[in-house]
Amino acid sequence: LDAENRAAGKSGLNAFLHLNAEEALEVARGVDEDRAEGKELPALAGVPIAIKDLIVTKGQPTTAASRMLEGWMSPYDGTVTQKVREARMPILGKTNLDEFAMGSTTEHSAFGVTRNPWSLDRIPGGSGGGSAVAVAGYQAPLALGTDTGGSIRQPAAVTGSVGVKPTYGSISRYGVIAMASSLDQVGPCARTVMDTALLHEAVAGHDPLDSTSQNRPVGNFVDAAREGAAEGGLKGLRVGVIKELSGEGFQEGVLNRFNESLELLKNAGAEIVEVSLPSVKEAIGAYYLIMSSEVSSNLAKYDGVRFGLRVLPEEGPITIERVMSATRAAGFGDEAKRRIILGTYALSAGYYDAYYGSAQKVRTLIQRDYAKAFEVADVLVSPTAPTTAFKLGAESKGDPMALYKGDIATVPTNLAGVPSISLPAGLADEDSLPVGIQFTAPAHEDARLYRVGAGLE
Ligand code: GLN
Repeated sequence: LDAENRAAGKSGLNAFLHLNAEEALEVARGVDEDRAEGKELPALAGVPIAIKDLIVTKGQPTTAASRMLEGWMSPYDGTVTQKVREARMPILGKTNLDEFAMGSTTEHSAFGVTRNPWSLDRIPGGSGGGSAVAVAGYQAPLALGTDTGGSIRQPAAVTGSVGVKPTYGSISRYGVIAMASSLDQVGPCARTVMDTALLHEAVAGHDPLDSTSQNRPVGNFVDAAREGAAEGGLKGLRVGVIKELSGEGFQEGVLNRFNESLELLKNAGAEIVEVSLPSVKEAIGAYYLIMSSEVSSNLAKYDGVRFGLRVLPEEGPITIERVMSATRAAGFGDEAKRRIILGTYALSAGYYDAYYGSAQKVRTLIQRDYAKAFEVADVLVSPTAPTTAFKLGAESKGDPMALYKGDIATVPTNLAGVPSISLPAGLADEDSLPVGIQFTAPAHEDARLYRVGAGLE
């Protein structure tokens, strides 16, 4: 850690955008008192949590790491925030992210980069770099993130943490600032599989305030993790290695740890089979079109009129259009603008069928590929990301397409709506940085992720 930060009493990680120490202490004291009186408490009572600054919290700012919402205070709690409060968990604060959750490095935050505790000149992953680093840097035992194309799993992978993207619609998105609504999903991040299972159970469940929320009972994730960790817990589990995501284009050290993990699974009694998802080669294209289209629509509300930033034109008449334009020019960063422009183009008359329409067809093909693969395997497996954490500033400055390609292993599950977990698989030989392994289960079978995750861990 650099001397300046140490002198200021800071870690230099910049995981948090806002600290909520006083309120957190108050909640912790309340739990202590109740415990002393022998009162019954929820499983995670008193366990502190960090919340991605895309999820609204009453009494604390919510910025989405954007100038557009700088200083904005939500008048209400998101459903997951409320559930965290009901669970009596002290909220430590709000964590850094790429602006409106768009990115893979947390470098697109309007409020500075977050650093990877394994190596301070490396990216922490993104968009949820702050949540992963809070956990990996031992600043919080648990964190909440959101995952639209990998934003929980890839930061977990590159920081040696565990991250879960649950089945689409299984955790409420009410009070989660929307990025791409057909893909967005809230999920847990922690240092162990069991910790993610506990948090997942605490925040899941049907919510009438979210129209895509599914009305199904919450799974027994903690039991599943116990079952997997027990002797013979993986016996007979059919693990499908995704052919297209376990070879070409992946760093050698990543593949070495991945293949070792497959050996461990085999030794634990799992049956390894090969599966093919032929359409995943089109996943990046489909994802970036669908996601950008939904982003352009979801971000249209930041117009300088209703809430958030308002910038008046420096000269000339003050009309709604000119205020809107000045506000959006000043309030959004480059990556947000890039995606708004791309999405607006993809949705425009004359191009809609060619771009958005084709992307939706690819999405259906990917869903069918998964369904077919799950006929022969209980869970699918691949590395979480093609590389370990790369240097800050290195790849994001030049070619955005190069960065987008790094999402190849994570975006297919968002397109298919199925659940996925990333957990540590050891350190790569080349750079001694963490490697993540990713398991995917059929929709609503999230419990399988905890079984296999805890079994391998
Ligand atoms: N890297 C992906 C993107 O930039 C992930 C986004 C996310 O999951 N929020 O779109």
